[in-house]
Amino acid sequence: MSILDTKLNHVKTVLILGHVHPDGDCIGSALGLYNYLEAVYPQLEVTLCLEEPSVKFAYLKGFDQIRTDFTEGVSFDLCICLDCSDKERLGEGQNGLELAKDSLCIDHHITNTGYAADNVVIPEASSTCEVLFGLLDEGNITKEIAACIYTGIIHDTGVFKYSCTSAKTMEIAGKMMEKGIDFTSIIDGSFYQKTYVQNQILGRALLESVVFFHGTCIFSAVRKKDMDFYGVTSKDMDGIIDQLRVTEGVECAIFLYETEPQRFKVSLRSNSGLDVSKIAGFFGGGGHVKAAGCTMDGSIYDVINNLSKHIEKQMKELAAVSEPA
Ligand code: 5GP
Ligand code: MN
Repeated sequence: MSILDTKLNHVKTVLILGHVHPDGDCIGSALGLYNYLEAVYPQLEVTLCLEEPSVKFAYLKGFDQIRTDFTEGVSFDLCICLDCSDKERLGEGQNGLELAKDSLCIDHHITNTGYAADNVVIPEASSTCEVLFGLLDEGNITKEIAACIYTGIIHDTGVFKYSCTSAKTMEIAGKMMEKGIDFTSIIDGSFYQKTYVQNQILGRALLESVVFFHGTCIFSAVRKKDMDFYGVTSKDMDGIIDQLRVTEGVECAIFLYETEPQRFKVSLRSNSGLDVSKIAGFFGGGGHVKAAGCTMDGSIYDVINNLSKHIEKQMKELAAVSEPA
């Protein structure tokens, strides 16, 4: 019996939350858990609240049950937070966590602060969906739940290519395939497919990208006025950082987009020994060693200047370790 079952045996009402700007792993784990509770604990009253999810995940069962109006002033017996490294990243969900009688966090971020009453955090896991799988009874995982877990895994591993992918990740994905999911359409539809405007903004970001530190770093920035011109929102920016990251010779990739005047959402990726979670953490964000993010204020120049100081410092430290004086 996992900690999840132990906690669920004593409750009537459950609130499921995830992080702001929910990605595939957040939505997959939240819906995977939601569908599991519905199947295995039908007596529970379960509420799932997330910020507006991208419609590309609408194939997941329960997608239409996601509430985007957050509960205010309601005290749930148990609040379960998924894929969220700190309280602040719950956004409007914070109130639900604070008022809940008990709480459980299921996550895989190295920067997790342990903010719930109990925290199941496995930084080596590819995804929160992988951590969640470990807490579920395999026999009760339906095809619909398998689709949720598989979705989270492919999104956080970049379809099994990031270094967070382990043999165990592949085993779990294989088990999900055995449940009969349509994995090709999940991968194409939720990961690779882009709308016309998403391709346009990707192209624009690549055209305007700049390499520095002798080609070892690359950045691109998209201003709000350009997002408005193309008619794109934050949900359309997925994948841009991944394309910057695969530029030959690049050790660190940075992508920014403006969320309000002089404020940028920052994505960082490392292809080398650089730990970008430390850099994002310094600026109030977090994430993983090779993929992290934060929000920064100032001009594009200020943001890149501040980030590059930290990158340079780490690069020098790494060089000193590999070539002792
Ligand atoms: P992305 O660049 O794809 O938005 O995020 C990469 C990783 O960093 C994800 O695991 C995400 O959860 C984490 N991350 C991104 N932005 C933030 C942030 O502002 N705060 C924290 N704590 N983590 C972030
Ligand atoms: Mn995740």
